Order: sequence, then structure tokens, then C-alpha cells
Amino acid sequence: MTDITSEFTAAYGRAPEGVWSAPGRVNLIGEHTDYNKGFVLPFAINFRTQAAVARRDDREIHLRSTFAEGEVVASLDSLSPDTMDGWSAYVLGVAWAAADAGVAIDAAFGLDILVDSRVPVGAGLSSSAALECAAGAAFNELWDWNLGDVALARLGRVAENTAVGAPTGLLDQAASMLGQEDHVVVLDCLTEEARAVPLHLREEGLGILVMNSNVDHEHATGGYGDRFRSCAEGARILDVESLREITADDLPRAQELLDEEAFRRVRHVVTENERVLATVAALEKDGPRSIGQLLDASQASMRDDFEITVPEIDTACDTAVAAGAIGARMTGGGFGGSAIALVPLEQADQIADAVRARLSEAGMREPTIFAVVPSEGARRDR
Ligand code: ADP
Ligand code: MG
Repeated sequence: MTDITSEFTAAYGRAPEGVWSAPGRVNLIGEHTDYNKGFVLPFAINFRTQAAVARRDDREIHLRSTFAEGEVVASLDSLSPDTMDGWSAYVLGVAWAAADAGVAIDAAFGLDILVDSRVPVGAGLSSSAALECAAGAAFNELWDWNLGDVALARLGRVAENTAVGAPTGLLDQAASMLGQEDHVVVLDCLTEEARAVPLHLREEGLGILVMNSNVDHEHATGGYGDRFRSCAEGARILDVESLREITADDLPRAQELLDEEAFRRVRHVVTENERVLATVAALEKDGPRSIGQLLDASQASMRDDFEITVPEIDTACDTAVAAGAIGARMTGGGFGGSAIALVPLEQADQIADAVRARLSEAGMREPTIFAVVPSEGARRDR
């Protein structure tokens, strides 16, 4: 394992002043509801991105990653989303977003930054938000922004939307900023109010498996943008600001006004919002063993109505449930990426083996299956 402090020292010739970190996330339920101003229920995971940082005496940001060759240099006086490209946009984009929102970086000194990550990239676990939030946490402290967690999450979102060009909602950054051990974060994407809800996984003897299909997803150019536009178009035809305003009672009218495909897209969002709220209620009343059917219904809705799953994900979920999982569903933007299964800990290995065997029989790519633990959000490590 890389020691980020010694890597930083090797790269920049002096020790970092501090190390900040932020986790990836798994969305327990509530997919593609965030940009529709609905509800999501993610948790931060025990895989983190670290940023080691030290001040410079000029106004330049020097940026390195253990994932990439070389150094990116940018001036604080000419930050612009148009000139940022590649992975550095996730970090520089946060600084630009702050400046654009009126958070002063006029007097700020430059920074040397090295990032290193244990969050698998492109697996639907939001290595991108982990990177934005680790950088945001460091900037917030070193540049005296004094912003709260939700405000920092918003800057990460703006970076991702504007500097990177991926039209994602606040879900990823909220989870990465606000996560707590053994809790999920329920986020209302309309009001941006968030609250941690206890999961009680440990005392119930349960765990969560991530089943990475190893099928690549690509947010900025892929079907994610298509779904985003379908939802906006659905809202326009239904004459609402966002699909958040549509409830199950409105679905018959929606069916009359929308074509068949657009209707299914809207129905997913409406029913998914209801499932998120039902999951929160079930967790608070009856605990995590009571949410299996909601997870399975979400998977079916993503597969049939929203059409964002791939065969590898569908097979993994079906097999996990048949092998004893309490529930299983795709998580993340879709078109590949990962699914999760809520499992009794003593059956975890057996369920993982069953999924691997079934995908292999079907001639599908071998999945990577591992446990995740709901963990603490962004923080200063040292
Ligand atoms: P996900 O968020 O699901 O992992 P994304 O496509 O949203 O997938 O983000 C992945 C991108 O984030 C990578 O292609 C890379 O540009 C950037 N990234 C994530 N972690 C790092 C890192 N440690 N160093 C450099 N770039 C990173
Ligand atoms: Mg991402």
C-alpha cells in the first residue's frame, strides 16, 4: 500500500501539511432520482481517496495522482472549466466552482496536491465524488472557506457537471461528505436536506456485497445523459418543474400524455421515490431485514422501466437473491458498473460463489465481488 506522505515528499521535495480523505459511496436505493429532485439513500463506504496537500508561495496548483503520470499545473488566476481536462478537472473544478459561487480565492496561496485512491474507478462507486470531496475538504480548511458539508458537496457537484461535463445530481457528493458508520444518508434533492438513518447491519448479522460487473460505464457520453434528457422532457410535457412533483396518483394522466417509453421512464422515477421513503420507514420501524422486497422492486424497475441495467447485473441480482440474499439491485448510474446484495454475513461467501458460478456458466465477464461497510464521510486524516 502506498504511503501518501512519502509519495508526496518524493514528488514535491517536502512533507505535506495535512492529509484529507473522502469515501466512495454505494446507493442503497433511489437511482436517477437525484437530478429529478427526488430522494436518494446512499452510504459512504470503507474505500477512500486521500489528498495530501501543502501550501505553495505562489498562486499555482500543482496536482499529481498515483493513478496518472506527470504533473498538472494551473494558475488560480485563470481557472476556467473550459481549460480543464482529464482527471484534474475533478479537483480544479472544485476550486473553480467555489470561485464562481463567490467563495473568495483571491488571497489564496497555491497548493501542491497528491491524490491516491482505494475507490475502484468507474465501478459505480463514485471515485469521482471521493476525489472532489477529498479536495473540497482540504480546500475548505487550508483556504478558510468555512463551508458546511452540504455546501462542499454542492461544489463537488458543480465541478462534475461543469468542469467534467457529467450531468449528475448531488447524491454522490452528499454521501461522501455526510456518511456515518453503519448509517445511510437520506437526501431530499429538492430541499437538499439530509439526515442519517441507522442501518443496524452489524447487530442484525448482515452485510452488503458489491458485485462489480466489470462492464464499463461512461457517464459523460453514455446513456446516462439520455435518461437525464428523457426525464426533463417528461417533466416538460407534464408541465411540472421536476418529476418530484409527480406522484403515483398522477401516473394514469402521465400515461395518456406520454409515449410508451417516456411513460416508463417517468414511472421509474415516481415509484423509485416512493421506494426510498418506504425503505427509510422500514429501516426505522422493522430494521434492515425488512427492506429486501423494496431492493428487488427497484432492480426490476431499473431493468424494465428505466432500462439502465445490463444482463450481467440482472443475472447477478437474480442469482444472489436465489442463493439467500435478502435483496439485490443495481447501484449507480447504470449501463454496467455494480450491483449490491444485502446478505446474512454467514451466507456471504456462498452467495458470492453462486453469482460467480452463474455468470461464468452464462459466458459473462467475471465479476469482482467484495463486502463494503457503511463508513464515515470526508475528514482530515492527519
Ligand atoms: P466513478 O465515479 O463511478 O468511479 P466516473 O467516471 O464518474 O466513475 O469517475 C472516474 C474518473 O474520476 C476517472 O476516470 C478519473 O478521471 C477520475 N479519478 C477518480 N479517482 C482518481 C484518482 N485517484 N486520480 C486521478 N483521477 C481519478
Ligand atoms: Mg462518478
